[in-house]
Amino acid sequence: MPNSVANGNQPHVILSLMAKRHYTPRGTPTAERFIGRVDKSAAAPCWLWTGCVNDHGYGMFKLGERGVTASRAAHILFIGPVPRGIQVCHRCDNPRCVRPSHLFLGTAKENAADSMAKGRRTRVSGRRAKLTPEQRIEIRERRGRESLGQLAHAFGVSRTAILKIAGRRQS
Ligand SMILES: [Zn+2]
Repeated sequence: MPNSVANGNQPHVILSLMAKRHYTPRGTPTAERFIGRVDKSAAAPCWLWTGCVNDHGYGMFKLGERGVTASRAAHILFIGPVPRGIQVCHRCDNPRCVRPSHLFLGTAKENAADSMAKGRRTRVSGRRAKLTPEQRIEIRERRGRESLGQLAHAFGVSRTAILKIAGRRQS
């Protein structure tokens, strides 16, 4: 890709210009801080997140006041807002990937169906787990704003399951 500034507003051009690994300049906009944690040197077309990773192996990024998954941040920064209740899914099925062109939006149910189709779901003692790690993260994120009933409905699981994952809401 040419380093032309003609398309300077295109996210992929900005990303290609900021190829240097672990380049995290101080005081630069959020997008550049994000790009500083992306590794595009791998042979695969995926762009790998090199920043913080949570217990489930998902990249995390602080966007404003809250921490979101890196793929969610990538979508918000380079493609557009992620509506409430919608998840950022991977065409490439690589949870560490943050390449905008590999991301798409889906509901929790669609993401679960997609994961199941790709065989990504974790199995717990021979049974399929009801929720993907990414869904669990989202449940914890949304727990501050939504009731057990709302979350149980949104993710198609019991209130008890939500309670186990996210606990009682702080008030
Ligand atoms: Zn990818």
